[in-house]
Amino acid sequence: MNKYKCFYCSENYIKNTEHVFPDGLGGQNIYMSCVCEKCNHDFSKLEGELYRKGIANLMRSVAGISSKKKHSRNYFKAQTLLSFDELNKIVYEVNQYDDFKIELKPQIIEIGLKFHIEGTLKEDIYQLTDKVKKWKKNNLKMILKFPEKDDDCTSYVQFQIKENLISSETLKSSSRINKAVILDVLDSHELSPYLKPRIFLDNEKNLIIRAISVVDAVRFLKKFLIFTSRPVNINSYSKIVNDNGIVYVGFNFDLLKAERAMAKIILNCLLHYFPNSINFNFDKFKSFVKNGETHVIGEIERKDDLIDSLEDTHNIFFHQYGDNLKVRLSLFNGGVCYSFIMEDVNILDNMDYKRLIIDFKKKENKIQDKNAFLMSFNK
Ligand SMILES: [Zn+2]
Repeated sequence: MNKYKCFYCSENYIKNTEHVFPDGLGGQNIYMSCVCEKCNHDFSKLEGELYRKGIANLMRSVAGISSKKKHSRNYFKAQTLLSFDELNKIVYEVNQYDDFKIELKPQIIEIGLKFHIEGTLKEDIYQLTDKVKKWKKNNLKMILKFPEKDDDCTSYVQFQIKENLISSETLKSSSRINKAVILDVLDSHELSPYLKPRIFLDNEKNLIIRAISVVDAVRFLKKFLIFTSRPVNINSYSKIVNDNGIVYVGFNFDLLKAERAMAKIILNCLLHYFPNSINFNFDKFKSFVKNGETHVIGEIERKDDLIDSLEDTHNIFFHQYGDNLKVRLSLFNGGVCYSFIMEDVNILDNMDYKRLIIDFKKKENKIQDKNAFLMSFNK
């Protein structure tokens, strides 16, 4: 390999910004010596799919890995947390924090023919109404889709109010759109049939619209803009019954991207801890990580009581079977396990194995050979 070329894209010069094991999952601060800045940037978006959304995210919050932004409460940062009032068939946006305490996010929901405003904390409700007012005055944009790559456009809906008539059109912009509301479509959740459109503040204080479709969201906003074109009071829905304590989590994340992120973590660790592995052909895996086109079939595995027995760790197991290497990544003591077979990759003796342990509380990576692994059970 040419040491001035990036392992993944073979194009750019090397800049050591890519963590061997992601920082966001508690990996040690050691860096890849063969990954360029651009690939690192692309990968951080992939990793977002793995740990800012979805199941790993919930565990990350429970395990207490700090995210870079600090909040006064340690909220669960899953993208979608919902609570269902079964009596009135209303779905609410909620936060869950500390010991599974629940509070309502500030939200304006269309219930029946009316709009209602809900929220547990008064200051949150003020913040929501303030942001909505500012949005009405200066912005009136709803973002449909953020760009996947830096040079893509953001698509959004622009609303216009003219003489009490509201119109809308879908547009694209190559520049950043600030202070818009962001659409999050929830179309395949078990609560989707009950989901009335709503506008709410997420934990990062962004204005979010949640609806079952783009059409539903546009209709909701148009109606809301007409309704609030004169000074009105929006009240709380009086019949709130919200003490069942059940919180529904939305897993509307992209599994393929999460798999690609996991494959990338595995490749990084393999290259870093087994430098000789650079001599083998990883084209298939590289292109899976980069664009997802050649699908490397990975397997979701169950938690293993032996391998996943160390507390507060992620583990990667490298196991040689003849000419094939089986690599198994488990996150959060086996909460998420994923493995794949790398054909014609010979880095260990037949049936030999090594384990990489990532202690995410201490932020320490440690490689362990077969003996050390077996000895670890003799304490
Ligand atoms: Zn690169």
